[in-house]
Amino acid sequence: MIVMKFGGTSVEDARSMKNSIQLVKRELHKGPIVVVSAIAGATNTLLSSARLSVEGKLEQATQQLSDLHERHVVVLENVVETRSTVQQILMELKKRFEELKNLCTGIAILGELTNRSLDAISSVGERLSSMIMAEGFKEDGIGTELVDARSFMVTDDHFGNATPLLDEVELLTKAKLSPHVRSNRLVVTQGFIGSTHKGVTTTLGRGGSDYSAAIIGTVLNAQEIQIWTDVDGVMTADPRIVPDARKLKVISFREASELAYFGAKVLHPSTILPAVKKNIPVVVLNSKRPQSSGTQIVENPPKSNAAVKSIASKRGITVVNVQSTRMLMAYGFLESIFSVFRKHKTPVDLVSTSEVAVSLTIDNVSRLDDIVNDLREYAEVSLYEKKAILCIVGEQMQTTAGIADRIFHALGDINVTMISQGASEINMSLVIDEYHVTEAVRRLHREFFEPVPELEIFETVEN
Ligand code: ADP
Ligand code: ASP
Ligand code: MG
Repeated sequence: MIVMKFGGTSVEDARSMKNSIQLVKRELHKGPIVVVSAIAGATNTLLSSARLSVEGKLEQATQQLSDLHERHVVVLENVVETRSTVQQILMELKKRFEELKNLCTGIAILGELTNRSLDAISSVGERLSSMIMAEGFKEDGIGTELVDARSFMVTDDHFGNATPLLDEVELLTKAKLSPHVRSNRLVVTQGFIGSTHKGVTTTLGRGGSDYSAAIIGTVLNAQEIQIWTDVDGVMTADPRIVPDARKLKVISFREASELAYFGAKVLHPSTILPAVKKNIPVVVLNSKRPQSSGTQIVENPPKSNAAVKSIASKRGITVVNVQSTRMLMAYGFLESIFSVFRKHKTPVDLVSTSEVAVSLTIDNVSRLDDIVNDLREYAEVSLYEKKAILCIVGEQMQTTAGIADRIFHALGDINVTMISQGASEINMSLVIDEYHVTEAVRRLHREFFEPVPELEIFETVEN
């Protein structure tokens, strides 16, 4: 059994969806489970219509929803030919969009938008794309079951960024999906969405479909988890920043995790975790260029001589600088600081300490005021906003001399305000002004990858 996850661009219009259907057909002998995202842009539109509604711009919100409705109608009518099926799904679409408009009206009247309502609204994208795609498979003569992910992806009630409750998810996924797999029926389900114990819809955070796919693949012991997207694989940098970025043929779970965590959007940061547990390879593939072999993410890739494999960047970072007002680094000081972040459920990305101060970075500032208030009880606190993290990753970095020197030399006049050699020793992370990110990534890429090192793991992407 394998899992095939299709991202938004792989189902963005009828042509892409049909193409993805063909990709699944090629793999039918492997018993695929299809996990699908919303059509490209749908989640953004749904969230924006909710936000417009709470601002009282209901007309604009309704217009956006009508346009999105129309996009789905066009996809449907070009993927499915059987008239009666089209009629039936058109009715479903109409119902869903009426519900959405009613929800938005409610939000506008109350002037209140909760994370719970946002999840109810943003989950609709995946529910619609999966419904249409499932009909596309049936149209092609493939015995297909559309299974609502909310029937097995049980999560906590942290709306907007819910955590799947893995033991329960495992039992339910086996119960709901395995019988169909055993009887050779193709399962189509949604990424990104889940449900609380009480049956309230949740979402796993932006980009969460990758995570859903990895969880499903892991609990069902898949041979492989395929992530179909719009780039040839994991590359030496985000190709939107560095158009000449090279594809990596293979990287390790650890490298992929660091890259995803520090901003490589090609994978949701949690994707690799479940796969590591059972050592299931994750493969990133391009649905627009399926002939390309993609990137294999495995536990132990063959040793390579490349010290640096890829550069990631993450914007929107705030640095919190905490200076002890009491004894210099009294024992317990670090513990008190971290307990404040824990109390306010705010993850810390990087930490760097000196004799008298600790610098930490966070990207979620929703509780920052409370955090600062608590810290000020025993420390001086300063904040630096609009920062970015640059993360340079490679398993061989720990054994290669001179990398830091090359990094700083390449960055030249770009000021680095914080440095952290990852505890895992496979990465080095730097904090710079957000404003310099694009230039910094390009300079580092030039230093490490131009000209491309003549090494097995790099592959030039031909267009
Ligand atoms: P999907 O909708 O298929 O999940 P995403 O937009 O979430 O696709 O992720 C793919 C995008 O990730 C690419 O278009 C690319 O711009 C971005 N990206 C960022 N860093 C990298 C990287 N190192 N390698 C490949 N793509 C990257
Ligand atoms: N559709 C969701 C999003 O745009 C989930 C995903 O694409 O993975 O964030
Ligand atoms: Mg994604």
